[in-house]
Amino acid sequence: MFKHHTALSVASTLRPSQPVTLVRPHAARRAARFFLEKFPGTAMYAVKANPAPDLIRTLWDAGLTHYDVASIAEVRLVREVAPNATLGFMHPIKAPEAIAEAYHRHGVRVFSLDSIDELDKIVAATATNGVAATDLTLCVRLRVSSSHSKLSLASKFGVHADEAAPVLMAARQVADALGICFHVGSQAMSPQAYGDAIAQVRAAIVAAGVTVDIVDVGGGFPSIYPGMAPAPLEAYFEVIHRGFESLPISYSAELWCEPGRALCAEYSSVLVRVEARKEDVLYINDGAYGALFDAAHVDWRFPVQLVRETASRARDMEFSFWGPTCDDMDYMRGPFVLPADIKAGDYIEVGMLGAYGQAMRTGFNGFTAGETVLMSDEPMDTLYAVTPESSDKVIQLRKK
Ligand SMILES: *Cc1c(COP(=O)(O)O)cnc(C)c1O
Repeated sequence: MFKHHTALSVASTLRPSQPVTLVRPHAARRAARFFLEKFPGTAMYAVKANPAPDLIRTLWDAGLTHYDVASIAEVRLVREVAPNATLGFMHPIKAPEAIAEAYHRHGVRVFSLDSIDELDKIVAATATNGVAATDLTLCVRLRVSSSHSKLSLASKFGVHADEAAPVLMAARQVADALGICFHVGSQAMSPQAYGDAIAQVRAAIVAAGVTVDIVDVGGGFPSIYPGMAPAPLEAYFEVIHRGFESLPISYSAELWCEPGRALCAEYSSVLVRVEARKEDVLYINDGAYGALFDAAHVDWRFPVQLVRETASRARDMEFSFWGPTCDDMDYMRGPFVLPADIKAGDYIEVGMLGAYGQAMRTGFNGFTAGETVLMSDEPMDTLYAVTPESSDKVIQLRKK
């Protein structure tokens, strides 16, 4: 399939009037290989970060066999795209119908929970003719701090380590394999987030006195954005490995993680057009109801670059963006740094939108995404070493 080498070639050949999603499968493949080679356990891709079927296929082809799904629609989707994938239904509050369909129709055996009520629900929904399932892997979700993370996941789910013993003991009774999982919050800026959470896992195991077969450190692995440059992922893996090795668990216990953002942030960017300018505010054709939800609602700063035939010589200045809908909430404060002479008709590439970007789109007010275009160039920023081996060129050569 035809690939563009630059965002400029997309802008000049298509002159798109709708936001264009620029996808870079080689970047997702590189991230997957990194986790497969360096994470000291099993990585499951958290599908909610970006459920695009082409991305799931790319990750599967790169060797990623485990997927963290949170809804029955995600279960069906991954089953369809990667029929042999191992699925973990890692949402701690599920509809009974979703559990039953996942277990009986799609072969899902891994479920998370944070209460005895949810445990009872899982046991009932997975029974066959009143006989309880004997092949369940049950992961008890602990509530841990999100204090090192840019987006908290600390309030909604999880049982506190000091209240987890009854849930762990009850789950142990019915589980074939018992796990403990947690999520430190998304975009965790310090490896210590995982060290602290693993200390909670230790406390929970000691209090419950149960045998634990799996420790699942969840997602939260950071990507790189303006003003948010994290420590290398190896440093995270190191802290996790050390913490895991020190836990009172059996020699054969497994270590899992559930990266979403870190696997797919670099997968895509969006090419938007400036429709109008009023001083330091640009009216662009994508926004809060499109791929820029996080830019609008949590002031996330994505990297931007002007895409124009002749490079601008103007100085840089700070802009904020209005999105295309009629809604005041469709506003991205930024600041986004762009040349001062930017004007209506110019195109801007907004980078690092592979995670929680294209996944967030709605069709509100009639504004939807335009085309998706395959790219061979590198993402605007990267966490991973770009080597000749991991560039698109070499991947294409190998295929020939
Ligand atoms: C959202 C989520 C993830 C992925 O989190 P990232 O911060 O994108 O890595 C993993 N596990 C669970 C249970 C989640 O809800």
